[in-house]
Amino acid sequence: MATPGGPRPGNLPPNYNPNSIADNLHNLQINRPNQPPYPGNGPRGPPPAFGQQPNSQSQPFPSSGPYSSSPFSGPSRPGPPPPGVAPRGAGPPSSGPPHGSMPPFMAANRPTGGGGGGTSSSNAPPMPASRPLTSGPLPSSAPVGPPGPFASSPLTSGPPGPPPNVGGGSMSNGPPTFGSQSMQGGPQYPSANVRPRPSTGPPPAPQTMSSFLGGPADNQPRGPVPPFSAPPRGMQPPTGPPPFSAQGQGAPHPQGSPFGAQPWQMQSRQNAPPPPISGSAQPPRMFGMPPPLPNQQSMATISPATGPSGNAVSGPSKIDPNQIPRPVPSSSVLLHETRQGNQANPPPPATSEFIARDTGNCSPRYMRSTINQIPCTSDLLNTSGMQLALLVQPLALPHPSEEPIQIVDFGEGGPVRCSRCKGYINPFMKFVDQGRRFICNFCGFTDETPRDYQCNLGPDGRRRDADERPELCRGTVEFVATREFLVRDPMPAVFFFLIDVSMNAVQTGATAGACSAISRVIADLPEGPRTFVGIATFDSTVHFYNLKRALQQPLMLIVPDVEDVYTPLQTDVVVPLSECRQHLDLLLESIPTMFQNNKTADSAFGAGMKAAFLAMKSTGGKLLVFQSVLPSVGIAALSAREAEGRTNISAGDKEPHRLLQPVDKTMKTMAIEFAEYQVSVDVFITTQSYVDIASISVIPKTTGGKIYYYHPFSALSDPAKLYNDLRWNVTRPQGFEAVMRVRCSQGLQVQEYSGNFCKRIPTDVDLPAVDCDKSIMVTLKHDDKLPDGTECSFQCAILYTTIYGQRRIRVSTLSLPCTTMLSNLFRSADLDTQFSCFLKQAANEISSAPLLQVRDRVTDLCINILHSYRKFCATVSSSGQLILPEALKLLPLYTLALIKSIGLRTDGRIDDRSFWINYVSALSVQLAIPLVYPRMMSIHDLNSKEMDGSVIPSPIPLSSEHVSDDGIYLLENGEDCLIYIGSSVDPDITQKLFGISSASEIPSQFVLEQYDNPLSKRLHEVVNEIRSQRCNYLRLRLCKKGDPSGMMFFSYMVEDKSSNGLSYVEFLVHVHRQIQSKMT
Ligand SMILES: [Zn+2]
Repeated sequence: MATPGGPRPGNLPPNYNPNSIADNLHNLQINRPNQPPYPGNGPRGPPPAFGQQPNSQSQPFPSSGPYSSSPFSGPSRPGPPPPGVAPRGAGPPSSGPPHGSMPPFMAANRPTGGGGGGTSSSNAPPMPASRPLTSGPLPSSAPVGPPGPFASSPLTSGPPGPPPNVGGGSMSNGPPTFGSQSMQGGPQYPSANVRPRPSTGPPPAPQTMSSFLGGPADNQPRGPVPPFSAPPRGMQPPTGPPPFSAQGQGAPHPQGSPFGAQPWQMQSRQNAPPPPISGSAQPPRMFGMPPPLPNQQSMATISPATGPSGNAVSGPSKIDPNQIPRPVPSSSVLLHETRQGNQANPPPPATSEFIARDTGNCSPRYMRSTINQIPCTSDLLNTSGMQLALLVQPLALPHPSEEPIQIVDFGEGGPVRCSRCKGYINPFMKFVDQGRRFICNFCGFTDETPRDYQCNLGPDGRRRDADERPELCRGTVEFVATREFLVRDPMPAVFFFLIDVSMNAVQTGATAGACSAISRVIADLPEGPRTFVGIATFDSTVHFYNLKRALQQPLMLIVPDVEDVYTPLQTDVVVPLSECRQHLDLLLESIPTMFQNNKTADSAFGAGMKAAFLAMKSTGGKLLVFQSVLPSVGIAALSAREAEGRTNISAGDKEPHRLLQPVDKTMKTMAIEFAEYQVSVDVFITTQSYVDIASISVIPKTTGGKIYYYHPFSALSDPAKLYNDLRWNVTRPQGFEAVMRVRCSQGLQVQEYSGNFCKRIPTDVDLPAVDCDKSIMVTLKHDDKLPDGTECSFQCAILYTTIYGQRRIRVSTLSLPCTTMLSNLFRSADLDTQFSCFLKQAANEISSAPLLQVRDRVTDLCINILHSYRKFCATVSSSGQLILPEALKLLPLYTLALIKSIGLRTDGRIDDRSFWINYVSALSVQLAIPLVYPRMMSIHDLNSKEMDGSVIPSPIPLSSEHVSDDGIYLLENGEDCLIYIGSSVDPDITQKLFGISSASEIPSQFVLEQYDNPLSKRLHEVVNEIRSQRCNYLRLRLCKKGDPSGMMFFSYMVEDKSSNGLSYVEFLVHVHRQIQSKMT
């Protein structure tokens, strides 16, 4: 679960440089012009990445427009036109960040941090992108060229800080004093000491086949087994070092001495020499290195006390709940080389903290497969019960210590591509004939090497310049897009804010919260002539504002017709930020007052969006909507169908859940039109009631946006989160007008894409906006056999426009070995990725299939996989044991948790379920796991714990047995953070932490304050760390037994038996029985 962050002290990776900005985004000010961590990272004039051809950077960014054209189609290089090429050209293009690295957008900092409504502690990490509080001097911003800081990898960790006091007036009790201090002019650069970053991922505990039986497992042939002993049946003994050698994910990773053995020498541009790693420090472990162990299958067994026949289960009581598989956090940062010895290294768990070194395959952050060896045939895949899919996150945030992505400029000719399939040049294209020709690793076609790109081959058959050319030795590179990828000039960065000012919105403080957040975030937008803004408000009509006129009072223009809207001014509604900054501040300050007595309860939400769209249509851009009530009038008005649907729900969900589907096609039609004009919509729902998220979410889902949900909106505790969410939204690395395509080697083809985008042709996905948090699932299918002993390649190419107007093509390539052995598939299974796919598929089905059917399907997927393993790979003959492949031993637990999740329960509110479905849609792998299996820890004893260098305490199982009445527990799932206060906690502790003497005094609206005592400070550190890891300003809620808050907390105790499902032990018994019945 840990996400990127800085390495822990004492554990520094070799190339870690404490002084580098990139390493500590925490403190970054977003627009600060500072020295780039990597010199020369300016957006525009990227220094030539190595190997680049000379004229690269000198080219101004081409102009021609991206837009509807298919980037892919562009003719790529000279070369015969592709026979039968896909409609749009084939290659995906993308564009990348400036050279050296980065996020197109520059980095931002991640949200987190304490502050406003949240915690704020003095030693809280400073908020990164945070701006100086209101009055502080604005950081100077960097004009156009975002330099450096951003440019680097950053983002990952910094906690952004929440504003210390958001919204001033509206929130009564501001955040604690401490909050602000970290932000104000504080040190901009982080001090050398990096925040320790605990990694929470599941640890690779060395367990391998162990019996989880309480008692001695008598009939086990293998006793407590030695880790990789017993060669599973059917497996061939390894010959040679297996690329994916035994170890399951959970297996211990061999000691590798990461450092010693392989010094990372990259990052030559960093200033400081890597700190020496002392022997005593725990070095990060190298992940993925072939363990020095025999290539044997590891597995876990559980003996649920069944009789020999397998039928009689005497009761789960014999299973020791303390021995069943659970995630174990790993405490150190893993180093991962993507390839070694010319073989792919299986990636570390997505939920662990790792530093990837791209040695030919792309980092698993950008693309990971459900299985790290590819079955040669569909029969083999089907037999395994697993599915083959990729999760791609093309703009994912790198770890601060990772080497930046190289920018490559091929000049006017554009990147070298296969003339048949349009695949981009990558380390797996094979040069032959003295370098004069190359063979495509996707379609097998042999092409002529462009004359100016030829190079002799060395004795090993590789080009002699391969190590100097990023595109020939790195799994991920960014190509500068040439004119052929443009259909128009790259679009400017346009941000249009649409604010609900209807009666409810104003009265609940939502309008003031939105205006305050926008006002603060404006300063974080990139400066320069390419940044445009616009503002409109709506109740039953739509109101635009002339942002240019130098008036004391903002000039409002009302659009009364909400059935057939128009934009009142062709100009001056969307204007350059530099020309309206002052008016904007004035306007945002005035809006809450202007509408304070508004009695209009109706909402013309659809009309407001449509009018805003018309204003942005010529350029495209981001439309950020703040909405508080159900859209009731005008275009796309909705009705409160929740009540009407209640009956159906309780009736047992016999038919597909219509309330989870959009009410009609109106929103979808609007969304498709928005997407065509490159307008992406994010909706911030600040409400007290049902707003029909199922219908509304179609807009963000189709346009590459997202729903943010604050329910019930609290004017006291939510503004801080609203501000942080908005800030991260606009400052994180992102791109506009993007088109993405995934290619794979012959024998496989893309079956389907799933995520938040618009699809107009089968092969490509259109993303009006794409950012570092968005993930897309790509399912694959066989259309032929893959030759054993070879590798199969996947390439994700995304063409996009950076926030600075550069057109880039980011290309990530992953090459994995093909196999004919089932045992290899199990050994190389990627649990996190497989489970994320289950989750997304379940979410896709919830609105179209009966819930029971969806739950059964999820359970069956789990059972089928384990059955296949039991039948074909396990060596144990006793039917009395449930045998789990080591790599997938947590699959039953996660499956059970999924069945009990908000989306698959019937007792949830419709909007909560719709939000869940939308949230899952573009969710990254590392956040998918905690969403269903949250992290829980005790916090009443924070001061007495041995933290072992980690800020976050060890997680405890999600079982009420572990929740005591005299304890206080924090549970977080990446989105929400619940704090449960037991009924008999020592009053001294509740007083120290929350300023109350018992759970009965819990306020309905809550802001975590920091008090002057060590326990309170520790809690703030923990909360800030979690926010930083999650890139999300989690909403905090206090819970106690006996009311809805307590019920919500206990609904996350997924190991308990409840109305929504079996207990974990019972579920294991159930799975075991099902497998047994399939075996007979
Ligand atoms: Zn090809």
